[in-house]
Amino acid sequence: MIRYLLLPALLFSVLTNIAFSQATHFDGNTWWGHVKVLADDKMEGRETGSEGLKNAESYVVDQLKAAGLQPAGTKGYYQPVKFVSREIVENDSSAALVRNGKAQSLVLGEDAIFSTRVDLAPHTEAPLVFVGYGLNIPENKYNDLAGLDLKGKVAVLLTGSPADVPSALSAHYQSTAVRWKALREAGVIGVISIPNPSSMDIPWSRIAANRAHPSMALADPKLDETAGEKFAMYFNPAKAEALFEGSGHTFQEIADLGKDRKPMPHFELPVSIKATTKMNVKQVTSSNIVAKLPGSDPKMKDSYVVLSAHVDHVGIGQAINGDKIYNGAMDNASGTAVLMDVAAELKKSHEKLKRSLLFVIVTGEEKGLLGSQYFAEYPTVEPKSMVADINIDMFLPIVPLKVLTVYGLAESDLGDDARAAAEKEGVRVQPDPQPLRNVFIRSDQYNFIKKGIPALAMDVSFDPGSPEQEIFKKWRTDRYHAPSDDLQQPVDLQTAAKYEEIVRDLMIKTANDDQRPQWKSDSFFRRYAGGE
Ligand SMILES: [Zn+2]
Repeated sequence: MIRYLLLPALLFSVLTNIAFSQATHFDGNTWWGHVKVLADDKMEGRETGSEGLKNAESYVVDQLKAAGLQPAGTKGYYQPVKFVSREIVENDSSAALVRNGKAQSLVLGEDAIFSTRVDLAPHTEAPLVFVGYGLNIPENKYNDLAGLDLKGKVAVLLTGSPADVPSALSAHYQSTAVRWKALREAGVIGVISIPNPSSMDIPWSRIAANRAHPSMALADPKLDETAGEKFAMYFNPAKAEALFEGSGHTFQEIADLGKDRKPMPHFELPVSIKATTKMNVKQVTSSNIVAKLPGSDPKMKDSYVVLSAHVDHVGIGQAINGDKIYNGAMDNASGTAVLMDVAAELKKSHEKLKRSLLFVIVTGEEKGLLGSQYFAEYPTVEPKSMVADINIDMFLPIVPLKVLTVYGLAESDLGDDARAAAEKEGVRVQPDPQPLRNVFIRSDQYNFIKKGIPALAMDVSFDPGSPEQEIFKKWRTDRYHAPSDDLQQPVDLQTAAKYEEIVRDLMIKTANDDQRPQWKSDSFFRRYAGGE
């Protein structure tokens, strides 16, 4: 009873929080029902090109059809995509560091692993140069490659970026295509990446355990982001001193600089890499799914608000605790389920929409955002008609929803609308609290951004130093890309429901706004929308 003696303003805020914090269109149960189907062992971890993913996709199509959405792919609801799959044959592959003419073999898995994300040349022999973060960022007058002789050499880099580069910018320049473009122009033929120990999502042992797993690239040569790269390797940070021996520098020194995001020295390493590789290469077909909910305004219905999520995951891999199915319940059955749920609810509630909504469920995300890259290149609607993309990838409803991280919060009008939608639910928003992890370029929204389309992604989050922070940290270490991202983990259904409510609200707002969302005048990403 004492509560009613509080100041009226405070009382008002308490009451509005109660009134608005109940999600009204969702209860979390239908969402979880979809997750249960998509992350079932029967779907075998939904690897791109697999039967498991095909089955999961046919469930998604059935649901969209039943909800009354219209097909908007090239083959009904589907948009088939061709891939090249590459798998390393380690028994016929080897690598060594050559110092003063003496070769010292690398133990694959232990010291380093090949990356089959690129079309590895059968033989490579080249001197090594340490290039810091390997970044050329003209906006910040920062260039790791300046003054170095890199022609015909393999660049060794530590992943990460210097602290004085804004996070969106550093994310952009660290994307595969942009980083490789700079290195290639400098004459580099290959890359050895050392994961920055201070920002590794998963431990080396788990990275190495799945190294035999196939990588994929889009079969369309026009979409090859690493053309000309002949050699690619990840080096275990715990073994990286071997690369720096005799250089006058230690890896410890480099790792310390990387931890604080300080500028790096650049220098030739007195060592060469010598490698022989054999790969199994095959063609694979998988599909994106595209469905639409038509708007009703005669002038605006030919423009689209896109809601996207990837449905593929990493399939069957090395067993951990006796389980070899990587179910991908949160990554990203959870996001796909939001799409199905929101689509069905909006159709059912006859919500009045001026613009049309486009639901894009992509394949090949785990292979390097490939399905969305293909869709952005060959959209099934007029490219300029897509006014925004809201992407959902592993939004992690594992704690009560109080804070939402909005990637791209300050970049476009969508950020303001996301803030308003969240605040209506009593949820605060924050920009990316961990820019080092590069989340902004690590999911499918990035391919829409590169086509000039304002986009954002939202994740359930935490306040720094709160107990929730530990829960998220533990989740990433133990469950992220592990078989335990399955249906046995604790999830918060109310958080999922509230999240869906925010997504629904944002979609409706964007669909009904006469003005299409714009990049902010100071946004780096505005450049992609130019020249249209
Ligand atoms: Zn993933």
